[in-house]
Amino acid sequence: MAPVVARTRAELEEARPRIEGTLALVPTMGALHEGHLSLIRQARRSADAVAVSIFVNPLQFAPGEDFDRYPRTFETDLQACAAEGVDLVFAPGRDVMYPDEPQVTIKSGPMGEIVEGAARPGHFDGMLTVVLKLLNLLRPDVAIFGEKDAQQLAMIRRMVADLNVPVRVAGGPTVREPDGLALSSRNRYLSAAERETAAALSRALRAGEDAAADGPDAVLGAAGAVLDKAASAEPPLALDYLVLVDPLTFTALGGDRTGPAVLAVAGRVGATHLIDNVSLHLGKEH
Ligand code: AMP
Repeated sequence: MAPVVARTRAELEEARPRIEGTLALVPTMGALHEGHLSLIRQARRSADAVAVSIFVNPLQFAPGEDFDRYPRTFETDLQACAAEGVDLVFAPGRDVMYPDEPQVTIKSGPMGEIVEGAARPGHFDGMLTVVLKLLNLLRPDVAIFGEKDAQQLAMIRRMVADLNVPVRVAGGPTVREPDGLALSSRNRYLSAAERETAAALSRALRAGEDAAADGPDAVLGAAGAVLDKAASAEPPLALDYLVLVDPLTFTALGGDRTGPAVLAVAGRVGATHLIDNVSLHLGKEH
């Protein structure tokens, strides 16, 4: 059955009470790919009904970023949602989400200013603000986010804990191309040659993961070597950061640190900003 589509608050207020049982929400910016679909399938297993939101959130794009050219493929997205048995698609326009210039917004705090937050100032404030608004509008029992955006997931968990938001947050594993490139709506910007260079991001993460038993320096060294090579490829990878961080706080780990960590990388190929990460366990004992 085709999903119910709500584009306005009135349509949502009519559709939401018709959902029976528990609801899982998958927030997206559309241009749906297999990564989103795997979250939708996880949502299906987590609740009686599934809602997908599709909204390219202007608040989380800085001036000069790709808000205007971000892919918008609503009809295809809707077909994909229908094929996955999604019950409700919430696709508000900008005027529905932000009828007035918002005054009160979420401040992401110190964690929002490091790593990806340092590369994209204001991004996490805008992201958390829209996620809280979507949670308030749709009132899901569970909300599902991709581990592909690991800092985003960690920050949403913090917001939900710090502000006592009544929702369960779940993460879904990163879906990748056969060569390792993480699926992203932005991959469609890449030319064939750029696509080749971009594969270095996940190759670097795998090299780092393979060195995890030998500690932080070995991880960063192994991943860094792959990225150095990609920096002189044609077209080159312009590295924004390669960091080894605590999975909960995203603060840097080093020295003889052991235990769980996230190795995160971001870079630009041509005009396209790409990010990826892998969870690993530092040290020999498991
Ligand atoms: P976006 O549409 O890029 O805002 O992403 C919507 C959701 O899909 C976010 O929770 C992302 O983390 C998640 N996501 C994006 N790419 C992937 C992927 N390759 N695998 C799994 N989840 C993903």
